[in-house]
Amino acid sequence: MHGYVERVERLTPTMVRVVLAGGTLDGFAMVDSTDAYVNLAFRPAGASYDEVYDPRAVRDSAPREEWPARRRYTVRRWDTAARELTLDFVVHGTTGVAGAWALRAAPGDVLVLEGPAGGYRPSTTAGWHLMVGDESALPAIAASLEALPADATAVVRLVCDGPDHELPLPTDARLDLRWLHRAGTPADGALLLESLRTAAFPAGEVHAFVHGEAEEIRGVRRHLLQDRGLERSQMSCSPYWRRTMTDEAWREVKRDFVAAMEADVA
Ligand SMILES: Cc1cc2nc3c(=O)[nH]c(=O)nc-3n(C[C@H](O)[C@H](O)[C@H](O)COP(=O)(O)OP(=O)(O)OC[C@H]3O[C@@H](n4cnc5c(N)ncnc54)[C@H](O)[C@@H]3O)c2cc1C
Repeated sequence: MHGYVERVERLTPTMVRVVLAGGTLDGFAMVDSTDAYVNLAFRPAGASYDEVYDPRAVRDSAPREEWPARRRYTVRRWDTAARELTLDFVVHGTTGVAGAWALRAAPGDVLVLEGPAGGYRPSTTAGWHLMVGDESALPAIAASLEALPADATAVVRLVCDGPDHELPLPTDARLDLRWLHRAGTPADGALLLESLRTAAFPAGEVHAFVHGEAEEIRGVRRHLLQDRGLERSQMSCSPYWRRTMTDEAWREVKRDFVAAMEADVA
């Protein structure tokens, strides 16, 4: 499947919104999840195949060095009527593939993708909702908050680089939102955890969504299970990316990391 860049918008100094339309997006079958994601495919420079391609067919037929790079991104919005797909990219310098692509994206550029799939939607029976993450989880958290009804309560803790990196988060729900700002020190990695340690949680059964940088997410998960008594079934938790690792390097070790994370709390 593929679409063409329709619009590009700079949301914050480190977040770029890309809206795709056209191509074969007519066949996009949105799933019933607020953390729905697509697998993007980026053709390496000098590849011998066309800019519109089937990633599976390429992996079956082309030499490995020509395989497209894969990156996973949240569906920030799927507009069924306009057939427009909105993706929000963290841009983190000129290294990497997807963030760097978004930085240069211009109307008419093609983007090849597979999916969508997803696994989380705020439970309608939970007493309240906890959402924790960094900028990479912001699209899913924003979509989740939009889906909450007026009688829901959400406690949200988000880490970002500063006030001009914050985004409006419209919701009908009662919202306890706190943005945490990195100071550029090693202590940044503990900001989410430290903020949760002192957070007053509402009464009732929580449904939690915890996603973002691997080590940060691991600490938060351990705290929620060990110190706050959550059950695993009350939590959607996955490490989206790992500091200092490209997505290729991260995927190599992710299974072992997740197994170790699962073993943190007996
Ligand atoms: C299900 C799922 C949904 C996701 N949704 C989104 C989304 O909606 N928006 C989004 O921006 N990301 C999202 N991510 C995370 C994204 O896939 C990774 O951040 C990915 O590594 C970015 O690829 P890249 O090519 O830009 O950088 P890579 O080539 O993978 O990495 C290059 C360097 O940049 C660093 N890096 C990677 N990501 C970040 C970051 N977020 N902040 C700072 N440094 C980084 C790496 O550690 C590495 O040092 C999602 C991940 C998953 C699994």
